[in-house]
Amino acid sequence: MSRVKVFLALALACMVMSAQSQPVEAGVNVIPMPAEYSAGSGSVSSHRMANLPQKVRISEKALRRHLEGRELADWQLKSAYWLELGQKRVSIVAADEQGVFYARQTLRMMASLDSSLTCCTILDWPRFRYRGVMLDESRHFQGKEFVLKQLEMMALLKMNRFHFHLVDNPGWRVQIDAYPRLTKLTSWRPQAYFWDWEKNEIGGPFVEEGTPGAYGGYYTKQDIAEILAFAHERHIEVIPEIEMPGHNYETRAAYPELACSLPGGGRDPWELCPGKESTFEFLEKVLLEVFDMFPSQYIHIGGDEARKNNWKLCPDCQARMKAEGLKGAEELQSYMIRRMERFAHAHGKRIIGWDEILQGGLAPDATVMSWHGTEAGLKAVREGHDVIFTPTRYCYLDFHQDSAQFRPVGRLVSLEKVYSFEPIAEGISEAEAHHVLGLQGCLWTEHVQDAWHAEMLLYPRVFALAETGWSQADRKGWTDFQRRVATFSALARKWGYTVFPALPLNSTL
Ligand SMILES: [Zn+2]
Repeated sequence: MSRVKVFLALALACMVMSAQSQPVEAGVNVIPMPAEYSAGSGSVSSHRMANLPQKVRISEKALRRHLEGRELADWQLKSAYWLELGQKRVSIVAADEQGVFYARQTLRMMASLDSSLTCCTILDWPRFRYRGVMLDESRHFQGKEFVLKQLEMMALLKMNRFHFHLVDNPGWRVQIDAYPRLTKLTSWRPQAYFWDWEKNEIGGPFVEEGTPGAYGGYYTKQDIAEILAFAHERHIEVIPEIEMPGHNYETRAAYPELACSLPGGGRDPWELCPGKESTFEFLEKVLLEVFDMFPSQYIHIGGDEARKNNWKLCPDCQARMKAEGLKGAEELQSYMIRRMERFAHAHGKRIIGWDEILQGGLAPDATVMSWHGTEAGLKAVREGHDVIFTPTRYCYLDFHQDSAQFRPVGRLVSLEKVYSFEPIAEGISEAEAHHVLGLQGCLWTEHVQDAWHAEMLLYPRVFALAETGWSQADRKGWTDFQRRVATFSALARKWGYTVFPALPLNSTL
């Protein structure tokens, strides 16, 4: 479909650094690689391009003329654009504002990376609708300015979902008016570094807000409103996560009555008690405030790593299981998730949960975040559910990308490994593929205290996720991607981002 200039192919051949998969086409310095690119004649300097008049047309009919019969889903059409860079003007045609926005991101990246641009035509649309990044703000807290900075980068990369992991054992990070102790008491701790605080997998102490030297913080409703406005302008949906029933050490520290009716709340320190009605009352009140803050159609309810031992001994949990005819602790978890899904639906929301929500029976409309591997996602797709893939071995960005990296943990998840991820896993048929919403990189922050460290783990691997999420599969090519990553990483560093070396230092570009 695309024309390839012979000289570009030759230039590319000179740059091949390995015998791995060849790019379809080179010459355009953009991440993610557009669906179709045709070089025209002539060139324009990037400085001049910035001042060229832009002719923008928002019309589905006009865009369809450029698509020449290519079949796109409605959500793809919304993001699609046709772009012509000439010496005298820039023309953009899109069906929606979103398409115009993405066309401008392409122009922005082209102008930033090259001083002289070949005149060209680009026709482009995304492959997956969910192209996400998750940030864990509980273990360590970075705060608003950091988040805005990463949203800016995500927008340039045409990523469109920010999964905000706001609450977890070591800290509650969002203002909830109905339960002020959550932020007054459990957003703050004496030790800054997570592993100094959490010993032997049991959480440490919290201290009250205002305690001298306390580490922590949280987002006020005003902060959240600012983040959402910033994200909205960049066509990024922010999905909040409120964990249940596990990962609630901090919640129990603030409100001990939410634990099981056992001495000290039971052996497991993290779980809420799904036997008590008051637990549901708490969660519903919290969620109502969260729904008011976040317009996203999704609420992530966690659902991961609940140990469930307390429930087997707790009289309230036992009574609940008997009354509801539940056969075991897994079915009790499933009862809780289904009940919370009904609550979410009643307020026009849909739930996302980590893949443990499959255990004991999946809530009818739940979207599954497949993290253990791809098997859980496959099972969910088979059952007709939507899936977002975040498998640890490709998408967990807390894992190290090089053994020389600062505080390397987990398995090796190199840039090449991330880039090699294919979300349409083997065994997913064409008819089922629409259930694969996309992919997400997850930055857990147990060992990530500093902003520079967080960025070093995000970049350049988020560049790879962006390309897999947006670019058509046949437009990806590891060799050409390395070339673009090297140039773009240098630019991102100039803009103040910390980017891990993408290539060995002796590589020639
Ligand atoms: Zn209980």
